[in-house]
Amino acid sequence: MNTKKILSDLGIEKLNSGASTGVKWMKGGGQQLDSYSPVDGKLIASTDQATEKTYQKVMEKAAAAFNEWRTWPAPKRGEVVRQIGEELRRKKDALGALVSYEMGKSLQEGLGEVQEMIDICDFAVGLSRQLYGLTMHSERPQHRMYEQWHPMGIVGIISAFNFPVAVWSWNAAIAWVCGDVCIWKPSSKTPLCAIACQNIIASVLKKNNVPEGVSCLVIGNASGDLINNDPRIPLVSFTGSTRIGRHVSQTVAGRFGNTILELGGNNAIIVSEHSDLNMVLMGTVFGAVGTAGQRCTSTRRLIVHESVYDKTVTVLKKAYGQLKIGNPLNAANHVGPLIDVKATEDYLNAIERAKQEGGKILVAGGVLKGAGYESGCYVKPCIIEAENHYEIVQEETFAPILYVMKYKTIEEAIDMQNGVPQGLSSSIFTNNLREAELFLSASGSDCGIANVNIGTSGAEIGGAFGGEKETGGGRESGSDAWKAYMRRQTNTINYGTKLPLAQGIKFDV
Ligand code: NAD
Repeated sequence: MNTKKILSDLGIEKLNSGASTGVKWMKGGGQQLDSYSPVDGKLIASTDQATEKTYQKVMEKAAAAFNEWRTWPAPKRGEVVRQIGEELRRKKDALGALVSYEMGKSLQEGLGEVQEMIDICDFAVGLSRQLYGLTMHSERPQHRMYEQWHPMGIVGIISAFNFPVAVWSWNAAIAWVCGDVCIWKPSSKTPLCAIACQNIIASVLKKNNVPEGVSCLVIGNASGDLINNDPRIPLVSFTGSTRIGRHVSQTVAGRFGNTILELGGNNAIIVSEHSDLNMVLMGTVFGAVGTAGQRCTSTRRLIVHESVYDKTVTVLKKAYGQLKIGNPLNAANHVGPLIDVKATEDYLNAIERAKQEGGKILVAGGVLKGAGYESGCYVKPCIIEAENHYEIVQEETFAPILYVMKYKTIEEAIDMQNGVPQGLSSSIFTNNLREAELFLSASGSDCGIANVNIGTSGAEIGGAFGGEKETGGGRESGSDAWKAYMRRQTNTINYGTKLPLAQGIKFDV
């Protein structure tokens, strides 16, 4: 990979780009932030971080921009988003490669992530003509009642390292057509991807005379709590761990702000005795080891019917034996690195804790050393026979560890699937209609995503994405998730000459 060329294509060789208002870059003013690639451990580039002073300057621009942007007709805002989608199409290869190199996912997944950005832009363009409200029949004569949706204001977007560009676009593209402006604080583990996105869209913003401040960026952790506590930000969309999400949620609620919370998952696949084992194998291996187990929807638990348990474990072990671990930019490899060395320590600790609680190692893990693994971030995907109630099984470890367990009845399997604090993605592999429908029924999966004969990992942008319980309850992307980015107003108009009160109340003066 020609890193220099990619960085130059995306305009990110230079330092001092810790904040932007979409059209102009500002010096962040804070400490230097170095971005190292987990692929080879090399320094990719450095940026500076935004201080509170810089944050305030950016917010002033955002507030002024909102006053204008909200007056643009929604389809005109949609046209800007359409052009952003076109620009992303042009830069797909370079941005996909940077995502892969800075975050460590495979090149195919990096390109797929940029494709998701393009898709959400297309979705948002259509949406810009479909921000529908309802009309209702008034109980009073000569009255008309309806609801309309207005832009909310400045949306704070705080994103996780594992989807360094797509999460921003899921929020920003929808927020923009809704008439909101955005301030994005990306993960400090993937700042260059964020800088690249701002550079890619800048020409579109300029060409269309979009007010400065519609797409703001602030690099560095200091801005996290500034956003949480800022009463000028009515909505904070937070994607990240449950631990930080809890803090964000409580802080923003303390000032009566709204949040969209997209937090950790602990996703399970139920393997029924009526399943197609080839499909189970594909769905499980991709779900558990894809992105090195660093997706919020990664498969972490496999709940297998006792009658097919041994067979399932045998084929899984064989498949794990064939996995190639190495540079994710090489398409021959299945598993790339974890994000950093700290993540490998968390992975090793989780394996140790599982063993202490009684877990039996079926496929051994370990950190890889030697040529090609210089970054120290490459680990072996491992499989552990465990029980659902183990403390470590109840937690999300962001690494390729798969816990397998047995069940006897479908009701027991559903209880195990639901018996964790998180509620993001879930799946059953079965050809039995009764089992599938029970799993999808009100007595079935308690997750935001429930699939039949598809694994837990990944999702399409057309649906509303998110999960329940400690996953935070947020929904973003498709369906009617846009409503979270707008405020609803109910309007009643009296076109008569009398002033009747509702509920038949008499009040004569
Ligand atoms: P993280 O919680 O460590 O960080 C997320 C973001 O929060 C980063 O931008 C970080 O800088 C920021 N942050 C840190 N302290 C903050 C504070 N006090 N206030 C505001 N923001 C603060 O998460 P991560 O390690 O980057 O990502 C992995 C986690 O994200 C996993 O738990 C994963 O499941 C979750 N995730 C969830 C979804 C989803 O849609 N449900 C999607 C992707 C990732």
